[in-house]
Amino acid sequence: MKNFSPKFSLLLIAFVVSACTTLVVYLIFPEGPVDKALLVTICFIASFISTLLLLFFVQLLVFRKLDHLLITVKEFRLQSDKPGIELKYKKNEIDNLEAEILAWADDRKNEIERMKKLEVYRKEFLGNVSHELKTPIFNIQGYVLTLLDGGLEDPSINRNYLIRAEKSVDRMITIIDDLEAISQLETGELQLDPERFDLIALFKDVVDAQEMKATERGIVLTMPNETKPVYVHGDRFRIRQVLVNLIVNSVKYGKPNGTTKIRIYNAGDNISVEISDNGIGIAKEHLPRLFERFYRVDKSRSREQGGTGLGLAIVKHIIEAHNQTISVMSTQGVGTVFSFTLKKA
Ligand code: ADP
Repeated sequence: MKNFSPKFSLLLIAFVVSACTTLVVYLIFPEGPVDKALLVTICFIASFISTLLLLFFVQLLVFRKLDHLLITVKEFRLQSDKPGIELKYKKNEIDNLEAEILAWADDRKNEIERMKKLEVYRKEFLGNVSHELKTPIFNIQGYVLTLLDGGLEDPSINRNYLIRAEKSVDRMITIIDDLEAISQLETGELQLDPERFDLIALFKDVVDAQEMKATERGIVLTMPNETKPVYVHGDRFRIRQVLVNLIVNSVKYGKPNGTTKIRIYNAGDNISVEISDNGIGIAKEHLPRLFERFYRVDKSRSREQGGTGLGLAIVKHIIEAHNQTISVMSTQGVGTVFSFTLKKA
């Protein structure tokens, strides 16, 4: 019955019921003056029509309710955050309702899974934030308590402890700035301010600003060979942030006397930017999670270098906000290459 249309099912039921009634009449009605064949025929037609009418009205009532239910479920489903696809209805109302309920259940299941993931993400995020802030706060507390316990009068430590406390305050400011940037990027609060700008001039600006830090670690920063301007379309300030993060990382995780190379390539409508180093590299198993918030390969090395574990997450958000992509290739002990694209202008 499942695959029959409601109309065909009605006819079938009416036929079976009238056939049974006619058979009973045929068996119990004695032969007599009335023509039995005519009687049986009349009986069959009468019971067929009356059963059909009865079923038709019952069906009308049931299907009106089913239609109402179908519309309610559909509206409810389409109102959700991520409604599934629009279903193609068949002639069979029961099948339609079943499909609609299944699609709705599927949407709910996906939504529950998404919410569960968000909940895990939120808990992890809160845990990470408090963990990151705890270290500098405890450091400051330690220095202040020592100073209050008499250290303030001890010229051999008082200045030194204040400088260290200030460093911890700086660290907290860096963490909070990064957290603010990431939350603005994730909530879409941060509006890009796109313009046409020369990428080569921006490279020069960033390299000049980072050269001192690189030289301290014996690392050479090299620019692309292009001498002519290369114009791209994007938020200059945010793209500068991307370049700074990638170059700072290449210096932080580079080997002494190493090199960080900035290269550009033509990629159709886009320019592909590549920042490569010959530093410590990243093991293959870490690469898929590298752009996650707070993900660090070597936690102690990152903290020691003043890292927050948020840099690459910010970089990815900025590039994706430009509708472009970023990728990483790395070999442990050999080096790392980050490449991202920007629209030509
Ligand atoms: P962090 O503040 O720890 O540097 P990032 O989000 O910038 O955070 O980077 C995440 C992790 O990726 C770093 O902790 C480091 O382990 C790894 N990493 C990033 N860039 C490089 C690189 N150029 N070479 C090796 N490892 C890198």
